[in-house]
Amino acid sequence: MEVVAILTAGDRVTGVATAAGERIDAPVVVNAAGLWSPAVARLAGVDLPIIIGRHPVFVVERDAGFGRPHLVYLDLAGGSYARPETGGLTLTGSLTEDETRHPMEPELLGGDVSLDEATEVLERTGRAIPRLAEARYRRGWAGAFDITPDWMPILDESPVRGFWIAAGMSGHGFKLAPAVGEMMAAGITGATPPVNRAPFAFGRFEGTAAAGTFVTSYLR
Ligand SMILES: Cc1cc2nc3c(=O)[nH]c(=O)nc-3n(C[C@H](O)[C@H](O)[C@H](O)COP(=O)(O)OP(=O)(O)OC[C@H]3O[C@@H](n4cnc5c(N)ncnc54)[C@H](O)[C@@H]3O)c2cc1C
Repeated sequence: MEVVAILTAGDRVTGVATAAGERIDAPVVVNAAGLWSPAVARLAGVDLPIIIGRHPVFVVERDAGFGRPHLVYLDLAGGSYARPETGGLTLTGSLTEDETRHPMEPELLGGDVSLDEATEVLERTGRAIPRLAEARYRRGWAGAFDITPDWMPILDESPVRGFWIAAGMSGHGFKLAPAVGEMMAAGITGATPPVNRAPFAFGRFEGTAAAGTFVTSYLR
């Protein structure tokens, strides 16, 4: 159900209102709205330092002689990744960190890609896995990442008490999901977190802006 309002009293969250006209009282509200997290935060008057950056994905059909599916492959130096899909297909894209230069409305997800960008990405993938250079191009579409300045998520309470943020996954959200759950549960209940919470603090970008890249976030 779509949240259309974050309810507050003073500096505390008190619940949410939904598009169906329902009001849900809650002492804790977690904004885990991914690409929509900046918009949801704004409902509570909170600005998130998150850019929604376009990340196109391409599907190629491996040639019949390719054999078994290949491994998931990240070429951090060469700037590409590839992962096998069923039906002899491979999904591939760039790791060139140019998403922040291509802000995108989440509503445009699934949109078209250009032949030029497909060509550029497939050349890079072909350098990483030469046999994929012979793969047949099938299609592409526009995806997007929710990106913080250091390409690591915000897992913290916002300045509105009780309004927590679990967003800015910066293209890592699947892998991080179990740890994100543990970190959020610990933060909200006051339990000892599994790892230091400081690198995921809401306020870490104030003053000395912590900058990073997709590649450095993988190497941490
Ligand atoms: C092409 C591509 C490849 C990727 N590859 C990888 C990878 O290999 N490994 C990896 O770890 N990550 C990868 N990612 C990133 C990963 O997909 C995301 O980080 C992850 O899905 C984010 O999960 P999330 O739960 O934070 O947000 P989402 O899965 O986007 O969930 C947010 C939810 O919030 C809901 N929502 C939005 N607004 C509202 C509202 N107002 N009220 C109520 N609900 C709302 C949305 O409907 C949605 O269901 C990739 C992303 C892309 C685009």
